[in-house]
Amino acid sequence: MNPSPYSNDQYTIGWISALNEEFMVAMAMLDEEHGRPQSTPQENTNIYHLGRIGDHNVAMACLSGGQMGTGPAAIVAENMRRTFKSIRFALLMGVGGGVPGKGKDIRVGDVVVSYPSGTYTGVVQYDYGKLKGNCHIQRKDWFSAPPSFIDELGEEYIYPEASEALDRLYQADQGHVPEAETCDSCNTHALVPRKPRKFPSKLCIHYGIIASGNVVVKDGTERERIDQRYENSILCFEMEAAGLMNNFPCLVIRGMSDYSDSHKNDQWQNCAIAVSSAYAKELLSLIGPSDMEVLPPIARISSHKPH
Ligand SMILES: [Zn+2]
Repeated sequence: MNPSPYSNDQYTIGWISALNEEFMVAMAMLDEEHGRPQSTPQENTNIYHLGRIGDHNVAMACLSGGQMGTGPAAIVAENMRRTFKSIRFALLMGVGGGVPGKGKDIRVGDVVVSYPSGTYTGVVQYDYGKLKGNCHIQRKDWFSAPPSFIDELGEEYIYPEASEALDRLYQADQGHVPEAETCDSCNTHALVPRKPRKFPSKLCIHYGIIASGNVVVKDGTERERIDQRYENSILCFEMEAAGLMNNFPCLVIRGMSDYSDSHKNDQWQNCAIAVSSAYAKELLSLIGPSDMEVLPPIARISSHKPH
């Protein structure tokens, strides 16, 4: 990979992927590829891929091989801050486990975006003490993902065929048949009846609270228990955001790949990666250079040592 024609200080947006598969799709979202950074501090362990989306120079990085959780995410962000001193904010990308519930029609293949309000940053660390306050925030939007993005990525990224059949939401207390590879033998009477979407080709984007922690939630009862603790406001679970939110302004964008229960499988993962990346690209194309000028560079906000 060649060095970028632009200096590190000319990059204003960070894009952090959790998994390597997500990083590959992220790179495909670039309108122009720039290559690697001109220089990186010695202690920087991130691998970067630089390029342009819309009017913005974007520095992309990925958590290193198989690492997950808030600690590794904080280290990636800290390295990024040191290396690209003009970055204004980052997009924290990846998949997440949806938390459907009353008034929350979240489905696999949808996108959840952290939406700050009141005392909440849009992210709660559910495995770290108790949070107080009121967190009834939810907005919803529709986004018709330009199909060309997804087509260009290849067949494995489109919505799974007969998606209606595969999008199965079980009642929270109805666990998966132990050891079974698929849900074919799971009790169909335990499915939560849901109406088909009016416009199945349009994604639903949900804005609100994302719950972040170091443990994967894959139990329906546990999902509901944590959600209740936060007044049923949680839209999805993920594992990195809490490592960044206090020190690194970022927007968390998660594609829903499962329902955080024991029926969790990988069928929707590629689709979830594709839709969240397409949404992020669309979002960056809507932000003008003048919108960025009002934001201070992260490097000046605070310095934070990862733990
Ligand atoms: Zn199952």
